[in-house]
Amino acid sequence: MGREAKKTQITVPKASKRIVKMYDTIKVSDLAQQLGVKANELIKKLMVNGVMANINSSLDYDTATLIASEYNFETQLIKRSVEDLIKAATFGNLEAEKKTRPPVVTVMGHVDHGKTTLLDAIRHANVAKKEAGGITQHIGAYKVQLPDKSYITFIDTPGHEAFTAMRERGAHVTDIVILVVAADDGVMPQTIEALNHAKAANVPIVVALNKIDRPNANPDKIKQQLAEHELVPEDWGGDTIYCEVSALQGKGIDNLLEQVRLVAEIQELKANPERSAQGVIIESRLEKGLGPVATLLVQEGYLEQGQPIVSGEVSGRVRVMKDDQGKKVKKAYPGDPVEVVGFEEPPEAGDAFYVCKTEEQAREIAELVKEQKEQEQQKPQKVSLEELFSKIKSGDVQELPVVLKADVSGSLEAVKVLFNKVSTDEVKIRVVHAGVGAISKSDILLASTAKGLVIGFNVRADSMAQSLAKEKGVEIKTYTVVYQLMDDIKKALSGLLKPEFVEKELGKAEVREVFSVPKVGNVAGCFVTEGKIQRGSKVRLVRDGKVVYEGQLGSLRRFKDDVKEVAQGYECGIGIENYNDIKPGDVIESFIMEEVQREL
Ligand code: GDP
Repeated sequence: MGREAKKTQITVPKASKRIVKMYDTIKVSDLAQQLGVKANELIKKLMVNGVMANINSSLDYDTATLIASEYNFETQLIKRSVEDLIKAATFGNLEAEKKTRPPVVTVMGHVDHGKTTLLDAIRHANVAKKEAGGITQHIGAYKVQLPDKSYITFIDTPGHEAFTAMRERGAHVTDIVILVVAADDGVMPQTIEALNHAKAANVPIVVALNKIDRPNANPDKIKQQLAEHELVPEDWGGDTIYCEVSALQGKGIDNLLEQVRLVAEIQELKANPERSAQGVIIESRLEKGLGPVATLLVQEGYLEQGQPIVSGEVSGRVRVMKDDQGKKVKKAYPGDPVEVVGFEEPPEAGDAFYVCKTEEQAREIAELVKEQKEQEQQKPQKVSLEELFSKIKSGDVQELPVVLKADVSGSLEAVKVLFNKVSTDEVKIRVVHAGVGAISKSDILLASTAKGLVIGFNVRADSMAQSLAKEKGVEIKTYTVVYQLMDDIKKALSGLLKPEFVEKELGKAEVREVFSVPKVGNVAGCFVTEGKIQRGSKVRLVRDGKVVYEGQLGSLRRFKDDVKEVAQGYECGIGIENYNDIKPGDVIESFIMEEVQREL
């Protein structure tokens, strides 16, 4: 029949003209137009071919080619990448000599160790020198001037979440990290997390030993603790700079800044100030009357009022620009943080921005980014053990990055030792971060950047971490028995991972009261907070984020009746088989093991 159809087309003058031109994707409406058919007809045709689409759906090249062929059309792919568009939109003197630029510094450390106070002290010390009372609003970053007239740029949002979030988006913002540790306290979990983040990003660390004014300050103790994490002080033969400061009293700040300058000097940070600007969005917000306001850090080139600009899916024009003191400026250079009004919507923090020759170019880039993001969302990239393994097998990956969390530091160490044992010459397990406590958002971000997975030993992921993991496609594997963990890892590394049973979480219940029932044992009066609790399922008893018991659900009752399941929002009585140590406040998780087909 195909032949017949073609024959009748002999009257069509030039068959070669029947070509659909498309980028990586094409909208159903556009395809219909190029094919000269009604969109509804095309949608029906797609349905017959098993593709559910509406008029605004984007079709990929293969699908479009298949459908087009049914109308005797060929498809022609026009390659268009964001990079190419950006390249075409840049201007200025690209070959200009690079000039030294200010280092960009982020302050990290454990909560309450003085990050905010330090950032304030640095800003005040500097402003006071120039003109008293000149403090203005915080815009997310500021610049300070040193006695030698050079500058340092500080990111004014302390904490490693901002740091990791930005890095995760591919933004390399920070040149130096100041790790704040309270000298009267010690190295805390977030201190270690922060230093692991900095290390993973290959960013040098300057340690600020803060609160040195406190009578019980013990800087040597901190040095000792940090030396165990490879931050060996210079006076002990290492190469990490330690500065004693009192952020509260403003002491030692000048020295700290000088040390940062020295570290920056070694880095030889340079940028071309004569080309069109690019950099990173530090913060953004919607302001009444002004619209979207964004803080930008210029990393390359010059940024000038009136220029067309694009960041992620958002384009615009630099209408008004202010520096970190709130003064209007016309031009900004590498290392300058500026507040810009003129984006059509608030761009996302951590996204890169680019100045373009024309507004059309800016808009085209924004549209392509949006299109690609939509496609990306349709197929979440999953970083799973299996997937990593197949990459290992094909030689694409030689290591398995892992964020490891455990209930106590003892098991952490034990697991690390085992990891070393199973690592081979070809494939290694790289522990990006190891810490004690529940799996948090920060762990997921770290794993996502490292393209690895999170392994929890006797700990669980909190709900925020769980939803972030889903969003980022990061796999969380939790274990309560060491050998199971090692088994999985070994199998993954040696390629023997068989179809497996995976856990399917059914729901959670909070224990409100505990009753002792003669001959039965303890029964927990519970309230189902999530999903459902199911009879015959497995259960896990979680106390303060730690798994204290795993076993079988013994009994499930509503009032006096045995029931099959109890849904969210209802109360019930739960007994755990052969287990009595239940306490109010505990959480009972109900789950089943489901067999899944592996995708190798
Ligand atoms: P952050 O959570 O790391 O941002 O810590 P903050 O900057 O909020 O400081 C936590 C607490 O420590 C505040 O009460 C500060 O006043 C206090 N603090 C910060 N730096 C110093 C210091 O150098 N000396 C003393 N004595 N207290 C300080």
